[in-house]
Amino acid sequence: MKLRINTRRTALAALTTLLAATLACMAVPAAAEDFPGGRAVTAVVPFAAGGPTDKVAREIGLLMSKQLGVPVLIDNSAGAGGTIGARKVALAKPDGHTILIHHIGMATAVGLYRNLGFDPLKDFEMVGEIADVPMVLLANKSLPPADMKALVSYAKANAASLSLANAGIGSASHLCGLLLQSALQTELTTIPYKGTAPALVDLMGGQVNLLCDQTTNVAGQIKAGSLKPYAAMQPQRIDAFKDIPSAAESGLPVEVKIWHAMYAPKGTPQAIVDRLSAALQSAVEDQGFRSKMADLGAQAVPAARARPESLRTHLGNEITKWTPIIRKAGVYAD
Ligand code: ASP
Repeated sequence: MKLRINTRRTALAALTTLLAATLACMAVPAAAEDFPGGRAVTAVVPFAAGGPTDKVAREIGLLMSKQLGVPVLIDNSAGAGGTIGARKVALAKPDGHTILIHHIGMATAVGLYRNLGFDPLKDFEMVGEIADVPMVLLANKSLPPADMKALVSYAKANAASLSLANAGIGSASHLCGLLLQSALQTELTTIPYKGTAPALVDLMGGQVNLLCDQTTNVAGQIKAGSLKPYAAMQPQRIDAFKDIPSAAESGLPVEVKIWHAMYAPKGTPQAIVDRLSAALQSAVEDQGFRSKMADLGAQAVPAARARPESLRTHLGNEITKWTPIIRKAGVYAD
């Protein structure tokens, strides 16, 4: 009798285990099929609200929300040059409801941080690229030098009192500032912010002298003539701002182009990554988005670049390009 009860219990336990295992196996594909299942997607922007990364993220988030049928909410997890927000997404639940919208800092952080706490290539699923954005060096209007050539000698003579804002070590403005100082062979006083939105407020107010920023943040001030643009930080002039000379015209060998891209935490099911990427591809092809970017001096990528394979290749190439340059400069954030 006793033996019979034990046998029945064992059989029941085995059946329960089998059922649980079957349900667990079914759970992942079911979640991927349901995505987004009526739940909002949170896009982490690793810089302050109102800045250039935030602006691109809000535009693209709005378009993607139409494709996905749920809101795309923006979470500005700013600080440490974008690495705090990136780490947050690397550790987030890989269910497609948390994504990252970042920029070139995803590649440059590898050289700048010895203890980054995440691996950009291994700890994320790539969703796709979004836009390329040029950078401009600007000053408060009261800064005396009239042009870039005059700024070069002014910077050498006033290095100790000349301040240059950035969005923290690992940010695009920090990278641009490094290249500028190396070209000038002069060390300026750098002032970190949580993004270039607050840096721009201080630049306008005259609390800081110089800022190197994406055109997507400063186009309005350039057009209104409320800031002094010195140079496009690339060999050629920017189509939307033909009046601004290039750094090369002023004899500065500086070239930096910012690119924005989207990531999901490692382990996000492929079907969800594909869904996010399809929504991104349609967003970058939106004519309104493309012309808004063009007006701001930027370029939305073609749909072929808003894909995982393209981003993986680009991110890998950018890490390979920038790590030795940064290491040679001997600058570390930690
Ligand atoms: N432009 C910033 C940077 O320098 C980032 C931002 O505020 O979006 O990286």
